[in-house]
Amino acid sequence: MLGAGPAGVIAAETIRKHRPADAITIVGDEPEPPYSRMAIPYLLAGQIGEAGTWLRKGAGHYEALRINVVPGRATALDTASRIVSLADGRQLGFDTLLIATGSTPLQPPIPGINLPGVHPCWTLADARRIMALAGKGARVLQMGAGFIGCIIMEALALRGVQLSVVEMGDRMVPRMMGPTAGGMIKEWCQRHGVQVHTGTRVEAISPGAPLSVRLSSGEVVAADLVISATGVKPAIGFLEGTPIRCKQGILTDWRMQTNVPGIYAAGDCAEAFDKLSGRHVVSAIQPNAADQARVAALNMAGMPAELPGVTQINVLDTLGLVSASFGRWQGVPDGEHVELTDRAASRHLSLQFKDDVMVGCNSVGWTEHVGVLRGLVEGQVRLGTWKDRLKEDPTRLMEAYLASAQAQGQWRGAWDDRRR
Ligand SMILES: Cc1cc2nc3c(=O)[nH]c(=O)nc-3n(C[C@H](O)[C@H](O)[C@H](O)COP(=O)(O)OP(=O)(O)OC[C@H]3O[C@@H](n4cnc5c(N)ncnc54)[C@H](O)[C@@H]3O)c2cc1C
Repeated sequence: MLGAGPAGVIAAETIRKHRPADAITIVGDEPEPPYSRMAIPYLLAGQIGEAGTWLRKGAGHYEALRINVVPGRATALDTASRIVSLADGRQLGFDTLLIATGSTPLQPPIPGINLPGVHPCWTLADARRIMALAGKGARVLQMGAGFIGCIIMEALALRGVQLSVVEMGDRMVPRMMGPTAGGMIKEWCQRHGVQVHTGTRVEAISPGAPLSVRLSSGEVVAADLVISATGVKPAIGFLEGTPIRCKQGILTDWRMQTNVPGIYAAGDCAEAFDKLSGRHVVSAIQPNAADQARVAALNMAGMPAELPGVTQINVLDTLGLVSASFGRWQGVPDGEHVELTDRAASRHLSLQFKDDVMVGCNSVGWTEHVGVLRGLVEGQVRLGTWKDRLKEDPTRLMEAYLASAQAQGQWRGAWDDRRR
């Protein structure tokens, strides 16, 4: 396995279950026991210690499973001779390979981005640097209000910092939420003491204590810490020059195999084929990494398995306001749409339909219906007459789901039709 995150670890454990005699190696380029990035906000909030982020906490877990965890950075892959080269010159041979190298933060080309005190929030090492600077009352400026940016805001607030957020999009979480939902999340954050600048870029960061951050609005903000949360990209640079086909991420088939037989990819670095939408997608969330790793591992162990679909769901807790986006929340050509907004109560629903299927949605403040929304979108449940009823009153989601659940049989049929 290349990569010691959730995908690498789950794949190694799955292979071990089915192949007791195989030699299994995980190569990871961070000097930590395999850990979950998802746990970093809890570490920042002081709710867990570093050991709480480790994926497996039992002492000797990997040794007991005879999984060899090797520190090292893969720099090249020879697909013909089946050898991975590491940065320190070592070469590792393999029969089957899983690429599970995840993603790395995008660093915007801004003067001052490499100054001390400017950090992404992606690794445990980043978290340590952030914790050292984000003490009570510290002035923290966060670049980016996307998925990760919003997730870490709660932790930063709990640390008692003075937080400013700068997002170049016209709203918060612009790649996950429509204008109304993104606007409501912004209002919520502002009500909770966060300065939010949308439609604004950080133009330059100047050194000093504090740092001076120049915004495109002309404003200059003093900051003891700048956190860069401006997106990530699959960590696949070392595949350049190999025959492995990549677009945004590594292209895989239903079995998570790349175009090179015996070489698989899973997790944030992979572009998996989503049977429901019929497209390849990178959906960089941990449940997908886990599902894809299991499927890849079963195939690597000689047990055919297919990925049922790629979960395109993001559920976000921004300073206590829960929002969610599912599937094609922006809508589809010739689709239909209904929206219901109660700004005073911070509640919003936006449902997107194609024919009588709900293909995507945004919700803000509807914690009780997250499961139903997911069931309707992922299950491609045919709503029949319930589509029009939902268009009249979107709050009847639960009724619509219960009444249409029997249509799951039709959905299976539709799915099977696609595969023929
Ligand atoms: C702060 C934060 C909060 C998050 N919160 C959530 C959340 O609430 N819900 C959710 O679903 N997801 C969340 N995520 C995203 C989630 O962590 C990722 O989707 C998940 O980690 C993907 O797992 P992975 O195994 O594919 O990749 P990673 O966890 O990124 O693991 C990749 C591994 O590969 C290693 N590696 C990279 N390049 C090389 C190389 N060349 N050679 C060797 N090793 C290499 C890395 O060091 C790492 O060990 C969060 C992420 C962050 C940063």
